[in-house]
Amino acid sequence: MPPTAFACCASSPPGGRLRAVKTLVRSTVKIPPPSHLPHPIESLRRGNWVKLICGASFEDAADVRNLSLVYTLAGVDCIDCAADEPVVNAVNEGIDAAMSISMVNRPWVMISVNDDKEDLHFRKAEFDPEDCPSDCPRPCEKVCPATAILLQRVFEEGELVQNTEWGKLQGGVITERCYGCGRCFPICPYDKIRAITYVRDPSTTTKLLQRSDVDAIEIHTSGRCTDSFSELWNSLGDSLKNVKLVAVKRGNLSKPMTPEIWQVNYT
Ligand code: SF4
Ligand code: SF4
Repeated sequence: MPPTAFACCASSPPGGRLRAVKTLVRSTVKIPPPSHLPHPIESLRRGNWVKLICGASFEDAADVRNLSLVYTLAGVDCIDCAADEPVVNAVNEGIDAAMSISMVNRPWVMISVNDDKEDLHFRKAEFDPEDCPSDCPRPCEKVCPATAILLQRVFEEGELVQNTEWGKLQGGVITERCYGCGRCFPICPYDKIRAITYVRDPSTTTKLLQRSDVDAIEIHTSGRCTDSFSELWNSLGDSLKNVKLVAVKRGNLSKPMTPEIWQVNYT
């Protein structure tokens, strides 16, 4: 799950927030110099690669930026995020902010994509609060680890009142915060929550791979159908040559993966 955001002085202007973070970090943390930390490729070779997984579907840019800042300072080798431009921008902002605080290594930025709708990392919860019984105790809200469900009760005359027993429900899933963990699906006593699956748009991915601040890609595939993998691979074309690492992650399979899917490039 995406860890809790680093929320320092949220009401201050951005420059003031960064200064406050710098002061806080410098006064409380002893950060090792970069020479004491291996480069990401060395970590991969040694088998002690550490990756921050923001979540392939987690798109709250403010949280992603803050997480990237903190984990860059912590010395991670890679930050894995959604293949979404504002999210990638946020990761790089967090990294730049961390590097302005201390001389740390720059982690690789990895984007996660999929080739079909089978991988559970690529889904969002959805429901219509108007369909929810007004006396529902809202277990969905409580179980969500990403605070991605927010509901309010509304009186008929339109007045908003939180935490009362009466009135219709308004609100629902905050899409950018939902990372598709699935905890809310079985807990709804009225079976109102649906999973919306999706496939990342290859043209957006291609543009991201052409940027100088994206270093790696992780392709999620079920491995059941090589056609969808080949289609994605061919769509990404030469943009794959711009990255340092192409990783392929397959879902659970009862039968072995088709061999050719493993023939991917490490550059
Ligand atoms: S799937 Fe449900 S519980 Fe999980 S993050 Fe999304 S809204 Fe929250
Ligand atoms: S638990 Fe189900 S019925 Fe109750 S508020 Fe959540 S989605 Fe609606």
